[in-house]
Amino acid sequence: MRPDKNELVRMLSITKDDELQELYNQAYEVKKKYVGTKVYFRGIIELSNICTKNCYYCGIRKSNLDFQRYTITMEEALAEAKWCYEQRYGSLVIQAGERIDPDWVDFIEELIRGVKRVSDGKLGITLSLGEQSEDVYRRWFEAGAHRYLLRVETTNPELYKSLHPADHDFEYRKSCLDLLRKTGYQVGTGVMVGLPGQTIEDIAEDILFFYDKDVDMLGMGPYIPHHGTPLGHLEKSFEPDNALKMGLKMIATCRITLKDVNIATTTALQALHPEGREMGLLAGANVLMPNITDTKYREGYQLYEGKPCMDENANQCVGCLSRRIASIGETIGFDEWGDSRHFEARKS
Ligand code: SAH
Ligand code: SF4
Repeated sequence: MRPDKNELVRMLSITKDDELQELYNQAYEVKKKYVGTKVYFRGIIELSNICTKNCYYCGIRKSNLDFQRYTITMEEALAEAKWCYEQRYGSLVIQAGERIDPDWVDFIEELIRGVKRVSDGKLGITLSLGEQSEDVYRRWFEAGAHRYLLRVETTNPELYKSLHPADHDFEYRKSCLDLLRKTGYQVGTGVMVGLPGQTIEDIAEDILFFYDKDVDMLGMGPYIPHHGTPLGHLEKSFEPDNALKMGLKMIATCRITLKDVNIATTTALQALHPEGREMGLLAGANVLMPNITDTKYREGYQLYEGKPCMDENANQCVGCLSRRIASIGETIGFDEWGDSRHFEARKS
């Protein structure tokens, strides 16, 4: 059933702690019923911070000249993938700034084939590489990727316009979700919450958009200002506690209304609170993306301020993550792809 907008606004407007807890509990019940309490890991490789775009909120936007650009080599990326496989993570996410040039497209295609090779064909591959042509999406799908994450960032066209230069095409971004679906991917999208100028009504409309697009996966997180961007002045008035609450409310509201989709508990939540990602799981998320990028590159991939685990090695993070998940009474879906139940239900 299509969610009721007033009900969405009501849930998203909750501020009292006891009512918030009730919302999270309700979402957890829905999660238990529809997707269970197994957390699926997707090791994320931040492949490159080179980006041809200039989103006003993002720390690695093209015009930010404050830091070194990098691209991880094929050998390093495959070693990270192999490590991920050996840790028995079921899947890998390959994320980077947006590039559409042929060398990049070839590189990614080769990398996808390589990941399949080093993992006996077993690692699931999710891509988060921005807007591409249908042909490119198909080539990467045929090489072995099977999920794609492309946040629309907001569904309010005016708000989108205020956050991007004029040559960033909102309509094309949205249409990419259709191209991805047509190609055969499990389709993930999402928005940032707490964007400057965004209202609760806007966020309710975002959720209605997710429902109407019938998406399989969601990755949503609080917007966190970055000093090296045109919106850097917002740092002064930024309230981490409110941003965290809004992020959690969004997860809970989506779980309650969309039920069987996969929802990620994002690193941006952890940037706001040491236990932010566990809180996300308790508010209804069921996917977690441990960062497996070599620490020497992490400094260069700061989309927002205060990203956690900047100087920890991937294996140190695994230990702390497993303990944290056990501490909230959940288990980890080792060796499993953990595909979206929503996607499976549509197929059958
Ligand atoms: N270039 C690709 C993937 C990397 S960016 C793309 O844009 O799709 C991945 C996500 O980081 C973006 O979709 C955006 O939602 C998020 N992001 C960027 N800047 C952020 C910020 N300041 N706070 C929180 N999330 C941010
Ligand atoms: Fe580039 Fe993605 Fe950042 Fe936009 S959000 S500047 S496309 S990396």
